[in-house]
Amino acid sequence: MFVDQVSITVKAGDGGDGCVSFRRAKYVPKGGPDGGDGGKGGDVLFYADPGLNTLIDFRGVRHWSATDGEPGRGKQQFGHAGADRVIKVPPGTLLYDEDTGELVHDLAPDETYLIARGGRGGFGNEHFKSPTNQAPRQSTPGEPGERFDLRLELKLIAEVGLVGLPNAGKSTLLKALTRAHPKIADYPFTTLSPQLGIAEIGPSRRLVFADIPGLIEGAAQGAGLGHDFLRHIERTQVILHLLDARPVDGSTPAANYRAIRGELGGYSSELAEKRELIALNKTDLFASEAETNEAVRALRTELRLGSETDVVPISGATGTGMIPLLEALWKMVHPAGEKVEGWKAG
Ligand code: GDP
Ligand code: MG
Repeated sequence: MFVDQVSITVKAGDGGDGCVSFRRAKYVPKGGPDGGDGGKGGDVLFYADPGLNTLIDFRGVRHWSATDGEPGRGKQQFGHAGADRVIKVPPGTLLYDEDTGELVHDLAPDETYLIARGGRGGFGNEHFKSPTNQAPRQSTPGEPGERFDLRLELKLIAEVGLVGLPNAGKSTLLKALTRAHPKIADYPFTTLSPQLGIAEIGPSRRLVFADIPGLIEGAAQGAGLGHDFLRHIERTQVILHLLDARPVDGSTPAANYRAIRGELGGYSSELAEKRELIALNKTDLFASEAETNEAVRALRTELRLGSETDVVPISGATGTGMIPLLEALWKMVHPAGEKVEGWKAG
């Protein structure tokens, strides 16, 4: 299950109250005022941590607050400032004001954003000492820290773009790999809509897939592609190129690979330059593993693939090879990341 939207309350720390106190010392019956000021309350900030990609940490945790400032004390001691609270969220998290529905901020990777300011500390009575008032009994309370009800929404950013000819098995694979199939609202094309899928891998990691080729097919038919879709896939980091291992039309996987690469280049050079993983699909049609391995080898040879391009044999229909596939993709998207912990059938 994915948490893509959560409601939380953020509360900055209150300022500490100012203190009323008078100096007491032996043989000094009437000491002057020495009440210190209260400390400032801590701020609440958001930090867009590139290492995060879900809002799972917010599950069941509604209140996120910073520490209050300490009150001032006698002997001119100022209260300590409250500690800030830094809330880590994935990049692409949108902060909405829950009451007005207004977008407050859209967090870019590595950005820190101050959302709620801590209250200022109050003044101690020492602050009010003046030539005409040598013994003020006056102090001020700390200001309250800011408090907001927010809705956090995580934009789904497709990390893996799926390409391949019609009938390569893209839809089948997307269905096998991914459990959630969010619909994209306000999509400008009526004839085609991009298929998004989220593969849940381990408790807090996921990969978002977008079925790009459907659109390339559409573009060839004149449906047209817009900037909106390009914007949607511009952060796609990896292309998963799906090949039918045994095309019924008698074509070869290598020829089909070249056809799609040609189309991709004509469509978006930016997209064509992305790193690519090749999946040889429908390997369930082979009689043995040896036959599958031979097909992978033949493809590598024919395409003259270097060691930088991986070919993973899979079957979207039977689920064979899903974990190695996700593992390879995860490594490409998160080079420093951990291993895939598991995968549940869709
Ligand atoms: P798309 O056009 O790329 O989205 O391809 P689809 O997922 O719609 O699949 C096209 C055809 O190939 C369908 O008849 C599927 O049942 C079949 N297919 C898809 N994946 C596999 C697979 O792994 N093995 C076999 N044998 N057939 C598959
Ligand atoms: Mg399809």
